[in-house]
Amino acid sequence: MSTHPADKGRRDVQAKAPTTTDSGVPVPHDEFSATVGKQGPQTIQDFYLIEKLAHFNRENVPERIPHAKGSGAFGEFETTEDVSDITCAGLFQKGVKTPMLARFSTVAGEKGSPDTWRDPRGFALKFYTQEGNYDLVGNNTPIFFIRDAIKFPDFIHSQRRKSASGLRNHAMQWDFWTLSPETTHQVTWLMGDRGIPKTWRHMDGFGSHTYQFINAEGKRHWVKFHFKTNQGIDFLTADEADRLAGTDPDLHREDLYESIRNGDYPSWDLYVQVMPLEEADGYRFNPFDLTKTWSQKDYPKRKVGTMTLNRNPDNHHAQIEQAAFAPTNIVRGIGFSPDKMLLGRIFAYPDIHRYRIGPNYTQIPVNAPISPLSSYSKEGPMQYEFNQAEMAEYHPNSIDGPTADPAKGYDFGEWDTKGSDIHREDVAPHAEDTDQVQATTLYREVLDDAARERLAYNITGHVGKIDPSETELLERVYAYWSAVDPELGDNVRKGVEGLAERGNHRLRV
Ligand code: NDP
Repeated sequence: MSTHPADKGRRDVQAKAPTTTDSGVPVPHDEFSATVGKQGPQTIQDFYLIEKLAHFNRENVPERIPHAKGSGAFGEFETTEDVSDITCAGLFQKGVKTPMLARFSTVAGEKGSPDTWRDPRGFALKFYTQEGNYDLVGNNTPIFFIRDAIKFPDFIHSQRRKSASGLRNHAMQWDFWTLSPETTHQVTWLMGDRGIPKTWRHMDGFGSHTYQFINAEGKRHWVKFHFKTNQGIDFLTADEADRLAGTDPDLHREDLYESIRNGDYPSWDLYVQVMPLEEADGYRFNPFDLTKTWSQKDYPKRKVGTMTLNRNPDNHHAQIEQAAFAPTNIVRGIGFSPDKMLLGRIFAYPDIHRYRIGPNYTQIPVNAPISPLSSYSKEGPMQYEFNQAEMAEYHPNSIDGPTADPAKGYDFGEWDTKGSDIHREDVAPHAEDTDQVQATTLYREVLDDAARERLAYNITGHVGKIDPSETELLERVYAYWSAVDPELGDNVRKGVEGLAERGNHRLRV
């Protein structure tokens, strides 16, 4: 029998088997409910009718708040290089192959929204390792809009629908962005070509946060994860994406599914940037600021292995909708860092899964580890696994129950907290840190002329949906882009004013 995580939970339904109720009782008919007399009312003892209607009413689980629209596939990660000098994680030892699941998504749109809206893409990975599940829950960008989890609900509110009108509102988005200048780098990235990937196969993935690698001797390094696509980077222009949003709203889901069905398995090579612990304080950018990258000229990428997606889900709801990724799931040899967004997510992700799916979400086959479990958690809705009757239910106990072994336990990452008094302040800037510095580098040194033109065009189209009477907001938008590069600020101003003169903006309430 297969032990692959993708095979767990499938019912062995035989062709032409008699239809049963959910309790396994054969039913009398698939199409006709029972009535009292030929034209009489339906009967309450027709519990099969009632079960069908009642179950149908409960077919959905609440959709994710961000990252609602997505899909994914199963695959395998193979470590092809020897990186044992930096991590003792079992899955990252040369030659080890680990079954895995990937889910890609847009962020702000709802479950039925088009795949081609401009948005970062979620890049969530679950590795079913021999030492517990390891989740790397990243995006297709190496950075994020904000660097403190306390701003996350406000940021997402600004991107989603306005409560009063039920409409998405570009003024709200730009109001938040321009009042939060740390968003500049990510918004530049988002408005550029990589803001709308051609397909999920044609984008890179990033762990985005800084993490720790810990080797067998306990030596630690800071690391950044990069998954480089082997399909080549490709993108859609804003106009192509707008058209496809109407004609092919599920384009990216379909592309992934069809590629795998046709045996054209997409793959990504994993690289890490590695920073010795002692270099973090003196690095020119704060290495724990999620709005910044580490320059690859300072910290070149080092290859670890390859992830290949080779198996479609058999059931979207059971295996993708109910898949629960959380940065909390970390394994020996990998640790957290003082990134304030990462630390906030460690709380938020398991919390949404407890609400969205239920407190026993880890027992659902797609989320269950393949390694042995010896936990003291018990009961709650939908529990179906339990310890042996004679097993202790608390710790300490005088019975032979599970006991934490400090020699085998993982510390999840230790670091110098620089004091023990409580602070409430922004992430400390390093020598070259400004909110614009890396956006300016991206604009001036990475993009070519054509990409710069497309960037200004994309920003203009987006800002152009703000009512021209909102002059104070529009001035803030021009200043936001002038701070990246005066030429960009000017081009956006000219573009937006031109749209307004031609009456091409769309009013948003
Ligand atoms: P490098 O020249 O070594 O790297 C430039 C990076 O930019 C490459 O990873 C490249 O990806 C990526 N890139 C190319 N075109 C685009 C685009 N249209 N949108 C977004 N990224 C693109 O320089 P540095 O490492 O010093 O970084 C310079 C700037 O590049 C940073 O300020 C940041 O904005 C951006 N960047 C940096 C990354 C990092 O981790 N250091 C990662 C991605 C972007 P590719 O090689 O696939 O073309």
